[in-house]
Order: sequence, then C-alpha cells, then structure tokens
Amino acid sequence: MSIENILGFIVAGVCCTIFIPAISITLITAFVEHKKTKKPFSCCIGYHRPAGKVSFDGCSLGCVCGKCGDELLQDSQGNWFSIGQPKEK
Ligand SMILES: [Zn+2]
Repeated sequence: MSIENILGFIVAGVCCTIFIPAISITLITAFVEHKKTKKPFSCCIGYHRPAGKVSFDGCSLGCVCGKCGDELLQDSQGNWFSIGQPKEK
C-alpha cells in the first residue's frame, strides 16, 4: 500500500465523517429556519445584506439587514452576523 493510497483513505474518511454531515446539518437547519420564519434562505445560512445607515456605538459597527430586517453587527473579519430582530426602545 503506497502513501497515496493511505492519504486518499484519510481524505475520503474525513470528507465522509466530518464535512458531508456538517454541511448537511447546516443546510437542513437553515432550511427548517427558512420554513419556520419565512426569512430568505441566504439569511438563514448567515449571509445577510446590510442596508441603510451603518451605526457605530463606540465599540462595533451595526446595521440592519435589508432582506430579513434583523439587526446586524460586523465581526473582525468584516462579515455581518445577526443578533436578532431590533428591539423597540
Ligand atoms: Zn438578513
């Protein structure tokens, strides 16, 4: 058995036991959320579209999602993540 065969078995094993179940669970969870909340599917997989004015509270950038209306914060990588529906004050 050559080293290529062993590496192939390792790659196939990791794909079958980690990546495929993880992607499936993510997509199924997003699909269930999409059906329950009627939010756009892209928002359910965490891909929000910031719209309108970007606010700054002294610590982090905030915005509102143009598709689902959730309140968004920006992480250190520049991605937007949801912190839920905006609360009325
Ligand atoms: Zn959204």
